[in-house]
Amino acid sequence: MVGPEVYEKFIKHYTEKQWGRKATELPTSIIKRLPIRFMFNNNYFNDRYQGIPIGGYNVIIDKLIKTSEVRLDTCYFDNRDYFDRIARKIVFTGKIDEFFNFKFGDLEYRSLKFETEIYPVENYQGNAVINFTDRETPFTRVYEHKHFDFGDQPHTVVTKEYPIISSRKSDPFYPVNDTKNMNNYKKYQQLAYRQSNVIFGGRLGTYRYYDMHQVIASALKTVKNEVETLAT
Ligand SMILES: Cc1cc2nc3c(=O)[nH]c(=O)nc-3n(C[C@H](O)[C@H](O)[C@H](O)COP(=O)(O)OP(=O)(O)OC[C@H]3O[C@@H](n4cnc5c(N)ncnc54)[C@H](O)[C@@H]3O)c2cc1C
Repeated sequence: MVGPEVYEKFIKHYTEKQWGRKATELPTSIIKRLPIRFMFNNNYFNDRYQGIPIGGYNVIIDKLIKTSEVRLDTCYFDNRDYFDRIARKIVFTGKIDEFFNFKFGDLEYRSLKFETEIYPVENYQGNAVINFTDRETPFTRVYEHKHFDFGDQPHTVVTKEYPIISSRKSDPFYPVNDTKNMNNYKKYQQLAYRQSNVIFGGRLGTYRYYDMHQVIASALKTVKNEVETLAT
């Protein structure tokens, strides 16, 4: 798509760091997600309107769940019978393989480790996110959080992101959608179809890479279907 020079500089080493495997072993869909433009627009996405909610996602989520009972640090699997009893329908956004007790084996995920520091300077890197595409630098991205929300604090919070291999103990972030895992996922999906009181949603529940706008659209579509089904 971009020729060997740009591929080596921007894609190959970054992708191999991120996924912990050779680029030749990865599905092409990972790369096809990246927009290619022959102009000076340096935005990540092509969408006409881009941004994040004012104050960040917490603010919008807090408003959305204002009237709902929320329990944090509460794992569904720790009290499964209880949650199944109290709900007529469950929206499950955790790992689909875990839901079925890893019956067909573990689905693989990539995980991340974050190192956060506060620096006594107004500006550290001048940008919200910088990607490090070389092989030698162990982290893939550095975030400077204040630039997401135009902060003007005298100090700055900076996070380095390191890719790590996911285990059952680490947070799963990115589904590894290669042929082996997708074949396995399809087996779990067949079991999921038979769970009429559970809606499997999101990147872990449907083992799929989603950006925010895509996962929100998918949630709205699911709700619409549910409401229409209830009405008939
Ligand atoms: C490092 C990183 C950077 C990203 N950057 C961008 C970006 O710049 N732009 C963009 O559009 N998207 C970005 N994304 C993607 C975006 O974060 C996801 O699309 C979105 O969060 C997916 O929403 P979700 O509801 O599917 O999953 P999640 O946000 O992961 O929500 C799943 C929820 O289920 C809960 N859960 C899981 N298991 C259990 C359990 N057993 N019991 C109880 N609760 C459970 C979790 O705690 C979590 O709250 C990024 C993702 C990552 C990881």
